Amino acid sequence: MTLVDTPVITAGGPSLTQERRLVTAIPGPRSQELLARKAEAVASGVGHTLPISVVAAGGGVIVDADGNSLIDLGSGIAVTGVGNSAPRVVEAVTAQLHSFTHTCFTVSPYEGYVAVAEKLNELTPGDHVKRSALFNSGAEAVENAVKIARHFTKKQAVVAFDHAYHGRTNLTMGLTAKNIPYKSGFGPFASEVYRAPLSYPFRDGGLSGAEAAVRAISVIEKQVGAENLAAIIIEPIQGEGGFIVPAAGFLPAIVEWCRANDVVFIADEVQTGFARTGAWFASEHEGIVPDLVVTAKGIAGGLPLSAVTGRAEIMDSAMAGGLGGTYGGNPLACAAALATIETYEDDGLIDRAREIGAVLIGRLNALRTADPRVGDVRGRGAMVAMELVDPASGAPDAALTSAVAAYAHSNGVVVLTCGTYGNVIRFLPPLTISDELLIDGLSVVAEGLKHA
Ligand SMILES: *Cc1c(COP(=O)(O)O)cnc(C)c1O
Repeated sequence: MTLVDTPVITAGGPSLTQERRLVTAIPGPRSQELLARKAEAVASGVGHTLPISVVAAGGGVIVDADGNSLIDLGSGIAVTGVGNSAPRVVEAVTAQLHSFTHTCFTVSPYEGYVAVAEKLNELTPGDHVKRSALFNSGAEAVENAVKIARHFTKKQAVVAFDHAYHGRTNLTMGLTAKNIPYKSGFGPFASEVYRAPLSYPFRDGGLSGAEAAVRAISVIEKQVGAENLAAIIIEPIQGEGGFIVPAAGFLPAIVEWCRANDVVFIADEVQTGFARTGAWFASEHEGIVPDLVVTAKGIAGGLPLSAVTGRAEIMDSAMAGGLGGTYGGNPLACAAALATIETYEDDGLIDRAREIGAVLIGRLNALRTADPRVGDVRGRGAMVAMELVDPASGAPDAALTSAVAAYAHSNGVVVLTCGTYGNVIRFLPPLTISDELLIDGLSVVAEGLKHA
């Protein structure tokens, strides 16, 4: 393969040419060079989905070192909702970079952190008095939500659900359901973590939301007991577990049971939050008001930031010094978050997520009608997936899923798979993607399905 003489592009953002453009095979020679260095320098446990070396991204594309321009249907796992190098984010972070980069908020506070907390208190569901605390990663925020719930209730047990994903730290590995690759060999896991059955309409024989809630609550009451239970944690739409949307009524019934039993209801909105599902938070679709909401991913345009937001009496129960961390609510990340939230608001990106959802659902349902291997299409807003199955038995087809994803990758489309059975293709485009790119990307996926 000859080295293609493409200048290395360094400026990203929405002004990048918005097109799918392949000038080499994927991976091209420059990407291969980086991957060879990665294999020598980076631990194997840190995998990668696409064999490319990224040099720029923005709008709806990712550009690699060989000059290929790929359609981004993943947003770095639901992070860059406002697009990569979004102009307001670049401007705000650059200004902050020139003022100060770190003081540690718990040593000497600054306004950005407080402003992000105020914004989170305003935007998260419910009009009760709220407080927020900021952290770095989704997993760290989940851990802190559990700490806070335990401190407040003076109870210890935590219930998570089948197919749950809450992170890779010790406590969050325990909360996460899937063994390989997240847990196997990494134990022992934290104690007092229990698992309840979810509502999974495509695979639970059509239980109603209310019936699935009765089943879950029965398991919780029989195997844990409300008197021992500090918190129930759930993703309103499961992310990594397969974009599972619980049947209507499931989440409200669980919330109601929590209220009646002094159990803290924690919504893990790390993947579903910030405009992604066509609302600020996915809890809104079911009209639920969580006691604590955990956010991260879409919060800060790609800078590392996460948060726990919730009822003041719960959040304030921890003693001063009990919550925090060196970098939590870093000034650059806070500047990015404020600019990101302003971008969602001023650019109408919640509405845009709904429009993207209509295109995704429309196209994927057409595929399902034509091809019985597409067993289910589900999701809300710009968080949509298709589950691939053996048409005869309905059994999950992970091999087909990998083949379709691989076809998309080598034809310039970034798609991600997920699901306990590895048979779900998920679509999480940046909300700045054009319809043209989105439709082109979906056509490539459809071709991949035909070829497989
Ligand atoms: C990604 C994710 C996490 C973990 O976030 P990290 O920032 O990777 O630690 C937790 N919960 C959900 C629902 C997620 O999607």
